[in-house]
Amino acid sequence: MTIKFNQLPRKSLGLFPTPLAELNHFAQYLKGPRILIKRDDLTGLALGGNKTRKLEFLIADALKQGCDTIITAGAAQSNHCCQTAAAAAKYGLDCHLALGGKAPDTLAGNLLLDDLLGAEIHWTGAFRKGETISDIVTKLTQEGYKPYVIPYGGSNEIGALGFIEAIKELQMQLDLLDIQISHIIFPTSSGGTHAGMIIGKSIFAKNDFKVMGIGIDKGEAGDIPFDEHILSLANSTAEKLKIDIKYTLEDIIVNNEYLGDGYGVVGDLERRAIRLLAETEGILVDPVYTGRAMGGLISMIEKGELSTKDIVLFWHTGGSPALFPYSEEIIKGDSGENQ
Ligand SMILES: *Cc1c(COP(=O)(O)O)cnc(C)c1O
Repeated sequence: MTIKFNQLPRKSLGLFPTPLAELNHFAQYLKGPRILIKRDDLTGLALGGNKTRKLEFLIADALKQGCDTIITAGAAQSNHCCQTAAAAAKYGLDCHLALGGKAPDTLAGNLLLDDLLGAEIHWTGAFRKGETISDIVTKLTQEGYKPYVIPYGGSNEIGALGFIEAIKELQMQLDLLDIQISHIIFPTSSGGTHAGMIIGKSIFAKNDFKVMGIGIDKGEAGDIPFDEHILSLANSTAEKLKIDIKYTLEDIIVNNEYLGDGYGVVGDLERRAIRLLAETEGILVDPVYTGRAMGGLISMIEKGELSTKDIVLFWHTGGSPALFPYSEEIIKGDSGENQ
């Protein structure tokens, strides 16, 4: 199968490859499998994150279509929205963000960054998945702008390309180290990362491994179950690339055991994971996504669902700006290792 990625429209936004490292001290503490970490928190666009990879393809498409304005949507502390604002800034595009909730008194975390990056924010109350974007598009079009809509999370057939490419990048790094992993574990929420990884694995992986997303959002991605949403995105992306593979639900592994009290509600699982990784490795995970996924990984090791024969790769998808606005929720509780 030959996919000519260098022929797909793509605009540089990040510093790739991102580092691949090993969590020696953390793994020793847990007495489980070897654990590697792929540092997409260090993509180099604003404060980093997995959306940089999707945006390299999405921004290229916007420019190809001659658009001058980017619109996207998310939660108030959306990493995707912040990364989009940074990407738009780099390519001289206006950026409008439809954010759930209402304007806060002070700008913290990603909201501060959105503001610094020059994005215009539209507060959308109960909606955080782009339900109100069409109104903004209509208004901007009437004003003479040419808007380009990036869906919630940047998860469509174009955004997913970033994670097909990411698996190619990872396989090259694993080759150099002569390591064969058994699992990739990461937070999954709008599905583009997951769908891209599955296709990337089909094309580039040299050994079989499990691509396991830890579910983050109870609300899921719409009317259909989340795994079906990922499946349909993987198949439509493969079709667009003329790759002759049809995925089935068996290819989609979503672990929904760690949803806790829902999206963005910090619990003991996240608090413990954030502290344990920080205290053993000096690496920070965030309260909404990577803290929950890392909490899931810790729990799977402690329950014996992963063994010392496995080699697990934790994909750090970013999110650190949210540590600050969530500081109260992170500090409270009694689950820190040293408390
Ligand atoms: C968006 C995001 C995810 C989830 O990626 P999807 O492609 O939306 O499933 C995971 N971690 C972080 C930090 C994110 O910002």
